Amino acid sequence: MSEFDLIQQIRSASLPSQPGTVLGIGDDAAVLRPPPGYDLVSCVDTLVAGVHYPGNTAAADIGYKSLAVNLSDLAAMGAQPLWATLALTLDSHDPAWIRDFLTGFAAAAQPFDVDLVGGDTTQGPQVITVQAMGAVPPGEALCRTGAQAGDRVVVTGTIGDAALALHQLQCGEPVDEYLLGRLNRPSARVSAGLQVRNLVTSAIDISDGFVQDLKHVLKASNVGAKVQMDAMPASEPMIRAAAINQQHLQLTGGDDYELCLTVPQNHIDEVLTRLDAVGCGGQVVGEILAQPGICIESSTGELTELGSLAGYEHF
Ligand code: ADP
Ligand code: MG
Repeated sequence: MSEFDLIQQIRSASLPSQPGTVLGIGDDAAVLRPPPGYDLVSCVDTLVAGVHYPGNTAAADIGYKSLAVNLSDLAAMGAQPLWATLALTLDSHDPAWIRDFLTGFAAAAQPFDVDLVGGDTTQGPQVITVQAMGAVPPGEALCRTGAQAGDRVVVTGTIGDAALALHQLQCGEPVDEYLLGRLNRPSARVSAGLQVRNLVTSAIDISDGFVQDLKHVLKASNVGAKVQMDAMPASEPMIRAAAINQQHLQLTGGDDYELCLTVPQNHIDEVLTRLDAVGCGGQVVGEILAQPGICIESSTGELTELGSLAGYEHF
């Protein structure tokens, strides 16, 4: 299979549906027209085999996740996804692998009508880079810089599921199907981001672990936070697993792709109602403090000061 056959295979599997796709795959570059008056929002993420996913992950799951992690970044900006590009580096041109990869990619794209409008194809050790683009009204993008003392910290969905799945995989334990789905097919919280756009002071998606990602918001906003461990939402399989390391998984485990929002108290009810309405739900897990640093309150009421913003690894 030649590079050109491969591009043709990708092109036939990616018919555009966005009115703003003036020119998609096939020329030297794509021509894209954002909705009039909107700002363009762009992000890119690379997945490396063996680093970002276990080497034996199914092609369809890799395809799904490579787009979903980018849609999650758009969600965390409060942007409406529109387009993606795909840079594929593959060790071999295996048509069945590409077909399955594209099926997964399309499954992540379809709920939001994201058009695949271009990319690049090269040979080498497997690396997948996806760029996603979306649109937001001027001044309405959700940044990391707006958290204010007194805001509540809210997370969507449940936390720690992907890390527990990875833990089970790595220990050779039987892996819970639901948790494996959370690891391989994360739901980008796009509707949640759009729904809370004018009600929250900051947003970030939880890709590197709750504490790690919250720290980015705290640093950017120059504030601190207190987090209640017993408020941290856990899925049924997480509770059933009764892992002794649940707290660790929930605080440090990455790959959940839930949103972490800071919400002024007077908007809390509305935000929680809207998060319920879009299906992911939301949970208040803490409060923003003027004093920098993170303080974790355990389920037994014990307080652990995480101290310096860089110090979490030693916890
Ligand atoms: P050029 O050599 O001009 O960069 P290419 O042969 O790399 O052109 O690409 C031809 C067309 O196919 C372009 O529109 C490009 O965006 C698209 N394309 C190439 N690889 C991919 C891919 N992996 N996914 C989507 N589109 C791709
Ligand atoms: Mg090219």
